[in-house]
Amino acid sequence: MKRVYNFSAGPSMLPETVLEKAAAEMLDYEGSGQSVMEMSHRSKVYDAIIKDAEKLLREVMQIPDNYKVLFMQGGASSQFAMIPMNLMTKSGKADYILSGQFSTKAYQEACKYGDCKVIATSKPDNFSHIPTWDKNEFRADADYFHICMNNTIYGTLFHELPDTGDVPLVADISSCILSQPIDVSKFGLLYAGAQKNVAPAGLTIVIIREDLIGEPLDKTPSMFNYKIIADNDSMYNTPPCYPIYICKLVLEWIQNEIGGLAKMGERNIKKANVLYDFLDNSKLFKGCAEKGSRSIMNATFVTGDADLDAKFVKAATDAGFVNLKGHRSVGGMRASIYNAMPPEGIDKLVALMKQFEEENI
Ligand SMILES: *Cc1c(COP(=O)(O)O)cnc(C)c1O
Repeated sequence: MKRVYNFSAGPSMLPETVLEKAAAEMLDYEGSGQSVMEMSHRSKVYDAIIKDAEKLLREVMQIPDNYKVLFMQGGASSQFAMIPMNLMTKSGKADYILSGQFSTKAYQEACKYGDCKVIATSKPDNFSHIPTWDKNEFRADADYFHICMNNTIYGTLFHELPDTGDVPLVADISSCILSQPIDVSKFGLLYAGAQKNVAPAGLTIVIIREDLIGEPLDKTPSMFNYKIIADNDSMYNTPPCYPIYICKLVLEWIQNEIGGLAKMGERNIKKANVLYDFLDNSKLFKGCAEKGSRSIMNATFVTGDADLDAKFVKAATDAGFVNLKGHRSVGGMRASIYNAMPPEGIDKLVALMKQFEEENI
């Protein structure tokens, strides 16, 4: 068996020990005589899995007691609508920072439900940095303030959060959840599709301060109503059982093998720095995101010549480094280096880039 180094932006790599454990438990989960895929979500054995997953998430992320954890479906994209449906219910206003495609989609969706304001955008610079904001533009009566914390396509990260005072800060953390410690108490709501850093596709995690769970807009579908999902402990209908199980294994991996989120963060920063240090000194490759905005999960880079970019992607693929082609809106290359990418995957990628540089300059 040969496994590749997979730099996919999502779905993406999972830790090998997690896959091995899932494989070992595939036919008979803990003596139940069934796979987790086959069991009733109302069974005792499954109940322990979903409860453990939530308990571990609370421990690893240090989620305060006044926050609910919801296991949902529909991806982060469904949250673009669910957030306004559930939260934009007092003044009917919400503020948005546009730092990439996903925050723009979130904003466009929310515009269907109320009065949304763009506080800042870096679109004129093709989202190569996190835009700077002017606090005077924030609306004190907004029902929430939305950001996309890590911009998967452009490779940028909010290294500093806007101070929104009493207005709940809402963040899409799809591509940075569990990458480093985060102070949950600074947010009203955090959400993430699981397929980047947590589990296979199909699970969406919502972490919401309890006082924000209330009366949604009229005619909000039950499945989109945070109160109904919370009151039913994420079991209003069949939850994404198998991704929740893998989520539990990934959290065990972070806790037991990595040593927690602080260690995970240190490891990720080290990994990213190996790649960025190389890019900053390279005569051929150049990072796309501005230095002060760089993501530790997605690194975008180019050679400046589209043909040479394609040649590099092909050479890398042939050598077992796959999914390095950049998103079409940026071009060039993108290395998504999520939690599960081992440090040696980056060391070897950099070695390959060095060799390519020597041969092509
Ligand atoms: C991948 C991604 C999304 C889209 O997630 P889906 O689960 O496919 O809807 C949204 N936001 C960010 C930041 C992402 O990385």
